[in-house]
Amino acid sequence: MSLSDRPPRDAPVDRSIPRALTDLFQEVILDHYRRPRNRGPLEDSTHAVTMNNPLCGDVITLSLVVQGDRIERARFEGRGCSISQASASMMTERLEGTRIDEARDLSRTFASLLHGDRDREGDETLGDLRALGGVSKFPVRIKCALLGFNCLDELIEEVADPDRQGGDRPGAEP
Ligand code: ZN
Repeated sequence: MSLSDRPPRDAPVDRSIPRALTDLFQEVILDHYRRPRNRGPLEDSTHAVTMNNPLCGDVITLSLVVQGDRIERARFEGRGCSISQASASMMTERLEGTRIDEARDLSRTFASLLHGDRDREGDETLGDLRALGGVSKFPVRIKCALLGFNCLDELIEEVADPDRQGGDRPGAEP
């Protein structure tokens, strides 16, 4: 499914990126893949969750600092194909400083884009995430693009309901 676990030749070119994506969008995706934003641990996180996409082997851990109804900081760690990692990088760029309800709207808007709603391609709240709109033509890759947002959705639910426990928690009891 993914070629990302093969050793790169010259540069980390990931041929799992659908060819039909425009060159510009491919460049944006590769830029986030090679130089991910907000990647790394978040020591003082208030909320964190790890999820995986077994179809492709992608893993994302999303960590947030939430104060009141606002996401103060967002960082991710993970491995997998360029679509999953670039999407998480793009997502964290949009999250810092947003309210929880805005983050929920972002997730819904992005899911709508990936399910073929062309109107979303002009939605500036998505930022670089718009580059992933072409993934809607490749159903097997939609799960890759949504993995980081699945983590976000879970954490939004946990903020609303602190007793909730979901996802594959690092260090969770078996
Ligand atoms: Zn993937």
